[in-house]
Amino acid sequence: MTEDTFFTDAKTQKKKPLYQPNSIYSPHVSYHYNPNVGEYHYGVKHPMKPFRLMLTDHLVIGYKLYEKMDVYIPKPASRDELLNFHSEDYVDFLQKITPDNLSKYSNLLKDFNIGDDCPVFEGVYDYSKLYTGASLDATSKLISGASDIAINWSGGLHHAKKSEPSGFCYVNDIVLSILDLLRYHPRVLYIDIDLHHGDGVQEAFNTTDRVMTVSFHKYNGLFFPGTGNVDEVGVGKGKHYAINVPLNDGIDDESYIRLFKSIMDPLITSFKPTVIVQQCGADSLGCDRLGCFNLNIKAHGECVKFIKSFGIPLLVLGGGGYTPRNVSRLWCYETSIMTDVTLDSKLPENIPFRNFFNPDCSLHPNLGDKLDNKNSRKYLENVRTKILEQLRFLNGAPSVQMSEIPPDFSKLSKEEEDEINELNNEERMIIDAKDNARIGELEA
Ligand SMILES: [Zn+2]
Repeated sequence: MTEDTFFTDAKTQKKKPLYQPNSIYSPHVSYHYNPNVGEYHYGVKHPMKPFRLMLTDHLVIGYKLYEKMDVYIPKPASRDELLNFHSEDYVDFLQKITPDNLSKYSNLLKDFNIGDDCPVFEGVYDYSKLYTGASLDATSKLISGASDIAINWSGGLHHAKKSEPSGFCYVNDIVLSILDLLRYHPRVLYIDIDLHHGDGVQEAFNTTDRVMTVSFHKYNGLFFPGTGNVDEVGVGKGKHYAINVPLNDGIDDESYIRLFKSIMDPLITSFKPTVIVQQCGADSLGCDRLGCFNLNIKAHGECVKFIKSFGIPLLVLGGGGYTPRNVSRLWCYETSIMTDVTLDSKLPENIPFRNFFNPDCSLHPNLGDKLDNKNSRKYLENVRTKILEQLRFLNGAPSVQMSEIPPDFSKLSKEEEDEINELNNEERMIIDAKDNARIGELEA
């Protein structure tokens, strides 16, 4: 810690380093950010503000964290790269639709789930290619071994589906990254600590045992996206390889960290991933515009630090987060965890938009006491027990033929197809309800 025990004169203060090294061990970290991605606008009233990415980058630069990482300005993903997961008709649609020609394609808008959540805004296709390009660039550095940890805060858009956008996400950069990783890695672990269920990623890999998806999120059946109950465990060969941790409002630092570690530790030991993808959605923080948890920045970061401690190659992605000043604080703090330094909790003096962080100008404002914790010890213990029972079915890590990769989505058995269709039908039935629930959020 950098707690001062006495006052320093102005000159010493000026020379004080912005961070202190934590340990001798430091993995090779890379940071993948194309500044253009922060320039897009979903719309004035829309809670998703790509501006939060620019704010994050200002903090990372302000603390000089670039000195501790390889910094890349990635190029946008190509159309062909998007087609590795997304359907051609959907990518065609994204490519041609603009706010000006909406009326010409009005018949397609409903088919492609365009609405208040996922509006057509200026440059939506270019924006999607930018954040996806950064995730794919980060992935390639992990695959080549150039990086042990690769960070893309503009990525992590976990709701996008094969043929439609969902929950502010148009292209699923996570699925595309995991598909690339599967060419070289036998087992990929995906961890999602966004407030919302990581449904798009779970759905894409629901039938394979090569990707284990784990999502911690608010769940009550109606809260967006409506899925993610503890009994969703995967299908066919992927059965038991999807883990869902449904939580109630107001979960606090201590219970979240305890639950997270007590699940992730045995899970990593038994699944033995060769690479981990961590989605760090910031809407699980307390005081988030769309949030309902009580987490502080240090608690969120503690989960990321815990995963890093396993020393397995790690792709670190952003995700949700709708109070830009806290999103940027969190992701800057988590960048410091990855680069193994301790930041002064007082924000650097000369960063742009410093007034956004008034009045405290601290990296660690108190976000943790706004809501009652509706997660009793008994409830959390019950969830944990169910999940640990599920781990017993794993029978050790699956060993795989690398020729199976990437998973062929078209080669499902009839039984698996039926099971998926049934799940999709159920999901359709709750879509109206969850869209209605979302309208309230958008007007907030
Ligand atoms: Zn979210």
